Amino acid sequence: MKKFGNIEVAWVLDEIAALLEIKGEDIFKIRAYQRAARAIENLDVDITDLFRQKKLNGISGVGKNIAAKLEELLSTGRLIYLEKLRGEIPPGLVEMMNVPGVGPKMARTFYEKLGISSLKELEDAARGKKIRSLPGMGSKTELNILRGIEMLKSGGRGRITLGLAWTVADSLLNFLRSLPWVVDAETAGSTRRMKEAIGDIDIVVGTEEPEKVAEVFIKHPQVKEVLAHGSTKISVLLKFGVQVDLRLVRPDEFWTALHHFTGSKEHNVRLRERAHKIGIKINEYGLFKTDSDERIPVSGEEDIYTALGLAYIPPELREDRGEVFAAEEGRLPHVIGYDDMKGDLHLHSNWSDGVNSIEQIVEQAKKMGYEYIAITDHSRSLGIARGLSTERLTEQQEVINALQKEEAIHILTGVEADILANGDMDYPDEILAEKDVVIGSIHSGFRQDKEKITERIISAIKNEHVDIIAHPTGRLIGRRDPYEVDMDRIFEMAAKYNTVLEINSSPDRLDLNDLYVRQAKEMGIKIAINTDAHEVIRMNEIRYGIGTARRGWLEEEDVINTWDYDKLRRFLKNR
Ligand SMILES: [Zn+2]
Ligand SMILES: [Zn+2]
Repeated sequence: MKKFGNIEVAWVLDEIAALLEIKGEDIFKIRAYQRAARAIENLDVDITDLFRQKKLNGISGVGKNIAAKLEELLSTGRLIYLEKLRGEIPPGLVEMMNVPGVGPKMARTFYEKLGISSLKELEDAARGKKIRSLPGMGSKTELNILRGIEMLKSGGRGRITLGLAWTVADSLLNFLRSLPWVVDAETAGSTRRMKEAIGDIDIVVGTEEPEKVAEVFIKHPQVKEVLAHGSTKISVLLKFGVQVDLRLVRPDEFWTALHHFTGSKEHNVRLRERAHKIGIKINEYGLFKTDSDERIPVSGEEDIYTALGLAYIPPELREDRGEVFAAEEGRLPHVIGYDDMKGDLHLHSNWSDGVNSIEQIVEQAKKMGYEYIAITDHSRSLGIARGLSTERLTEQQEVINALQKEEAIHILTGVEADILANGDMDYPDEILAEKDVVIGSIHSGFRQDKEKITERIISAIKNEHVDIIAHPTGRLIGRRDPYEVDMDRIFEMAAKYNTVLEINSSPDRLDLNDLYVRQAKEMGIKIAINTDAHEVIRMNEIRYGIGTARRGWLEEEDVINTWDYDKLRRFLKNR
């Protein structure tokens, strides 16, 4: 008979909850299974012991009905109820949930509203632009679905976006940290360094019981295939089509292992050179004095840098781009932190092609602790994105002004105005002048020649009403190359006219990229880190923009939306 640990029992209950959600069952019933799953996951005693002592009823969060199911599961190794549920639901709907971002609720909506019951049908619907008409979904949902299906097909051989890498890593870390044998667990590799595209996901775990961790890890419901199973390294392929490498190390080796597997390789080479000079040996197992082989105690990554006589170098900077030299000289930048943003200056509401109302955006911004936001819907020429006519734009401004009276958070009125093919902005100057924030963007005519497209952006930079140039190179990572544009000229003119350039935080864009960001900083250009979110949930993607900013060595002074409201307003007025 199959033996169930607490984690596996929790997974069974989670599966029931997901299947019930696909069926559209009562939300309280679904929650009850989820609550019981979390309670059992967090038990500090073995559930089979409780079962033997007939104490299942005593677990808080587990009601009578669920306790009876647990008894059946633990005594027979099966659960008829679960098997019945599995039989009632088209297998295609369950398979759909392997597409990153598609949960039971979405799968059900696809089934109910569009009759979709297989991955193939889902793909066709997304290609046919049918998903965007569903409640709460937009064109980005379609893009994510297509991208997700592509990944499933590639079987872990392609690169994935930083956004997906962190979604997967966060959920695995949560799970690993809940295991009693795990002392520390962190993401390493290029994910931790916030690179724009990720191959495999690396996770380092500090534990005295590597076999136990390994044994549960390979049974995780997301694992499709175990690719390698050694005593310190396990590689798995997830159902998402992503490969994860798990390193199991002793707790006293954790920090040097984390540092080693975070890389980059080139950064580690530089550090080893420096260590060698001062009689220290550094590798994944620890930090040692070269002459005596004595271990130097390390209880955090900071200790590694301190031992080498260096200021702490954050992971995003470890690319051998001069950071070790800067640390030696005490010239390392104080890069912005992940909690430093005071607002988001590029957001779409349901006035244009966004999913949520301005009120919902305001709520999310408050949850995130922001001091201000800007509502910047699309301009009139962008028909496919329901761009706003001048009348609608004025109407929206009145709505925002009224809402502002009730809200403490500052709601800046703005617009994302198209830079037209001839370089004109999509609204006359007197309209732009009324806005707190004007973003200039190219959304069409990508195929113009280099000179034309460069001049087009420069005329927007020169327009005194245009504050920010959004996604300056127009690239979509892995799908569309940057347009032909002379970035040196763009930087030169942005510096001259004090026009802000954007880091668009969407993991599909990350535009400007890290290298351009650093070049812009060196030229004294100000940067805005925005999400361009078309649904409030994606306002959380700001972390990827911040990661890119850190890779570009940006400090608070460089990023206008780390400033408080008064300073930002003064800047926008006077620039
Ligand atoms: Zn745009
Ligand atoms: Zn936008």
